[in-house]
Amino acid sequence: MVMIGVTGGIGSGKSTVCSLFEKKNVPVFYADAVAREITEGPARQEIVSVFGKEILDTHGALDRKSLAGIVFHDAGKLDQLNAIVHPRVFDAFQEWRNSLPASTTYALAEAALMFESGMFQSMDYVLAVMADEAVRIERTMQRDGSDETAVRARLQNQLSTEELLELSDFQLQNNGSLSDLAGKVSFFAVLFSTLTPPPEQS
Ligand code: ADP
Repeated sequence: MVMIGVTGGIGSGKSTVCSLFEKKNVPVFYADAVAREITEGPARQEIVSVFGKEILDTHGALDRKSLAGIVFHDAGKLDQLNAIVHPRVFDAFQEWRNSLPASTTYALAEAALMFESGMFQSMDYVLAVMADEAVRIERTMQRDGSDETAVRARLQNQLSTEELLELSDFQLQNNGSLSDLAGKVSFFAVLFSTLTPPPEQS
């Protein structure tokens, strides 16, 4: 089985791409969603012990916005949070991978921080979903109801287009319509079904 990572900047369309693959019965692991569940569930206690009770809301649930606010401005704290969350996401990924049917030709793992988290090391190939910055900002504002300044601030913490081009094996340009995107996904679905793991890993 070939494991393909899917990444891209905010609003590039990586979740949309993955959901189109899912419609073709391709298994997808959503690392960001799993990280959220872990943060609010199994890792909650450990996170509170590091970050203090200030990150809990009045009901005792983890307030992800306030946690995000802290780590956004403090790289050391971000490292601490990642050290708690990333190994657990990785374990969940391994478990998911082991549960896939033996007949699976290829599967996808979507992660915004594919390279930064080290997850790429478990991938045979990485597909980067790309779109122009203005398009990504517009789509993210529409999706999240956030303003341009907030979206731009999130963009700044992400890999540049040049870095993504350099690090990824395949690129999907998503500046067009949703039906253009569906056509491109169909193209990559055929391509991916012909891949074998790269020589150094097989
Ligand atoms: P990401 O997961 O990379 O942050 P999403 O897949 O959530 O991005 O896409 C961001 C928003 O843009 C979503 O609301 C999605 O429906 C929309 N979108 C994605 N691709 C297209 C497209 N080609 N045309 C129009 N809207 C799109």
